[in-house]
Amino acid sequence: MIRTRFAPSPTGFLHVGGARTALFSWAFARKHAGKFILRIEDTDLDRSTDASVQAILDGMRWLGLDWDEGPYHQMHRLDRYREVAEQLIREGNAYHCYCSKEELDAMREAQRARGEKPRYDGRWRPENAKALGLAPAPGARPIVRFRNPLEGAVTFLDLVKGPITVANAELDDLVILRADGVPTYNFGVVVDDLDMRITHVIRGDDHVNNTPRQVNIFRALGAELPHFAHAPMILGADGERLSKRHGAVSVMQYADDGFLPEALLNYLARLGWSHGDAELFAKEKFIDWFDLGHISRSPAQFNPDKLRWLNQQYLKAADDGRLAHAVVPRIERDGGTLAGGPPLERVVALLKERSETLAQLADEAMMFYRNREPPAQLLAEHLTPEVKPALAELATRLEGLGDWSADAINAEVQVVAKARGLKMPRLAIPLRVLVFGVAHTPALSAVLALAGRQRVLGRIRQYAQ
Ligand code: GLU
Repeated sequence: MIRTRFAPSPTGFLHVGGARTALFSWAFARKHAGKFILRIEDTDLDRSTDASVQAILDGMRWLGLDWDEGPYHQMHRLDRYREVAEQLIREGNAYHCYCSKEELDAMREAQRARGEKPRYDGRWRPENAKALGLAPAPGARPIVRFRNPLEGAVTFLDLVKGPITVANAELDDLVILRADGVPTYNFGVVVDDLDMRITHVIRGDDHVNNTPRQVNIFRALGAELPHFAHAPMILGADGERLSKRHGAVSVMQYADDGFLPEALLNYLARLGWSHGDAELFAKEKFIDWFDLGHISRSPAQFNPDKLRWLNQQYLKAADDGRLAHAVVPRIERDGGTLAGGPPLERVVALLKERSETLAQLADEAMMFYRNREPPAQLLAEHLTPEVKPALAELATRLEGLGDWSADAINAEVQVVAKARGLKMPRLAIPLRVLVFGVAHTPALSAVLALAGRQRVLGRIRQYAQ
């Protein structure tokens, strides 16, 4: 049974990079009818917050990345890390280290002075401590260090990058348990991936340098390795790692900005993975197509324009009732009044083709739900003496119209324009200005039909007679 996990550190919102990693892990589990586990890596006590845990859960739920187990919290598992650390000590694969911060600083300083790379020198390895006659200072609380092999190399097969080999000489004796009993990242992750029987560790390649250390710990525990797949980083247009400087990076910011979750998900799927030229595909298709072999080795570039384009495609195809429901709070927040206006579903049906986001859709829909008086400047510009009587005539014709439909309205406007020798825009623009207070709208007859006879006639009479 395939088991994957997403293991965010709750030190901020759910970042699009994290969401992309979560999506890959989730899709892989779904594809293979496996399990997807959510684990909160909250061992950085200074930076982890409950608000951030909540933000991550909100982002996952909004995207529809459902998990089968968890969320597990590492801070609830301290006894287990202690137990495994003790096992490692017992078996000679870890040891207590009593170095003070000052000692460690001095050690590094001396190494630098000798032109060496700073690293822990292994002085509290039991045999060294004995040889050096080291004894713990009274009351000193030890940390636990992993006894990394001194010789040889560690090799693992990355399912994206291929085989990776690192000399053990490059890895020093890593701290696995701090004095307060909190595990370090590399240790917590191994204990958890083992206990949670993770078969595929899929994560960002900012962790690829940690993997050899983790592999050594897995081996020391006599455990079988999970498969590893490191997905490439996501960069902004300038080639720098994606960050706030590039615009929104929080998943929930995209929700606020009016993106549909399935559009963002579709976009994220294409960041570092591809299926030929396919750009637009539903979640089910993605699950069907997803494989680790097509994760790219090179970094992906985040392109906000493409995301907006995708969102527009999803908006166009979305159900009008759903979109109407989604824009209600936006319209109300902006001071619009839905009561008395045209049915929102019909408005949305007319406008959704033109909108890239729900925010834009709500903005456009506002023209029907806000009573905007025509601005004086637009009136002066467009409501010319020549146009006024034409509008008055139109009002009379519209009043007698049996069927208040876009086609019927259009026919009347055409008749009046023709009779008066006016080009269409000479009538259409002042009508827009009168009824909506703006010079530009979608097709005139469609918006007049939606605005309703009362509003249209009322405005024409108020200003043009
Ligand atoms: N907690 C790590 C992070 O947020 C995840 C590491 C992992 O997936 O192993 O970067």
